[in-house]
Amino acid sequence: MYIHIPRKPFVIACLVVSLAWAGCRAKAPITRTWLPMGTVATLTFSRTMPPVHVEAHFHAVTSVVHDIERAMSVYIPASDISRLNAAAGEGMVPISTHTRRTLEAGIAYAEGTGGAFDPTVAPLVNLWGFHQRAVPLTPPTPEELHTALRTVGYRHVVISNSAAALRRPGMRIDLGGIAKGYAVDQGFDALVRANIQHFMLDIGGNLRVRGTSRPNKPWTIGIRNPFESGRIIGTLQLPSGMAVATSGNYERFVTIEGRRYAHIIDPRTGMPVQGMAGVTVVCPSATQADALSTALFVLGPTGAREVLAAQPECHALFVPDRHPLQIHITPGMRPLFKPLPAHADQVTTRPAL
Ligand code: AMP
Ligand code: MG
Repeated sequence: MYIHIPRKPFVIACLVVSLAWAGCRAKAPITRTWLPMGTVATLTFSRTMPPVHVEAHFHAVTSVVHDIERAMSVYIPASDISRLNAAAGEGMVPISTHTRRTLEAGIAYAEGTGGAFDPTVAPLVNLWGFHQRAVPLTPPTPEELHTALRTVGYRHVVISNSAAALRRPGMRIDLGGIAKGYAVDQGFDALVRANIQHFMLDIGGNLRVRGTSRPNKPWTIGIRNPFESGRIIGTLQLPSGMAVATSGNYERFVTIEGRRYAHIIDPRTGMPVQGMAGVTVVCPSATQADALSTALFVLGPTGAREVLAAQPECHALFVPDRHPLQIHITPGMRPLFKPLPAHADQVTTRPAL
């Protein structure tokens, strides 16, 4: 989750007591926090608003996010995704518009990233002990990986109008890498329709802003230091309408035989990604930022070149999983990212990206 930074001297205090940060300012914005999609979400209005309007707008956002969670959660047996997964290898299953759009977007990003992002990655995610499965005592064997890989592949998903099918038995969809971004975009659109000019919506680190945090002050968030929880490496100023997502190896991981494995899996090899600590992506839509941050985490700065060249509206920041800390940014990230002075020397802009 990001932390909005109202004033620099208060950065650390706000980080430590992130949910109480509003108290760090004389004129606190209006913030509402809730717990959808297995994570923490925050809606912030930067301007005063009658309480009755705050509650009405908050309700509009929570209700659309709730609908999306009910449609796509793998933890809800009656969700579209649970039913689709249960019918793998069988026929078409009716799905809601939210699920169809997210699945279509997921498949488009799978095509655009050479399969680094793949919404059918679930059998591998499960194999490594995520999604509330038992963590294995030893890493999966090559045979187990091979078997699971045969059930992974976005090309085996069929979508037609309001129904979808998984062609191979054992296939499973996991929209965990894109659904929160989609939910942010839907909440964002609901507030735009209600003519709210200045707000920030964050669902588990997938965030989109409109307007400014104060007159002439862009929304500014801290980017977490992947190696030190409670610390940031710098701040990111977000132009109105833009979204940001971060994928990190510190968010969720399993430990097998004393070794840590991150929750993002390379669908092409079946292995949890090694080598990246964090990837932050800024894009015009939260769905795009969410899918790309997951994909670029898999691809790393070099592998990401082609993907970023095809999407010049997106900007990326990479922190490799190496010491000393290095921060690689794309040229478009430069005007948005302000490193802390202690990290200024560690930033490289990579024109070749
Ligand atoms: P994020 O935090 O947005 O990067 O999403 C990570 C989540 O997406 C994981 O917890 C998995 O549920 C799922 N996931 C893992 N690897 C991939 C992948 N390569 N492509 C798509 N989704 C993935
Ligand atoms: Mg993602």
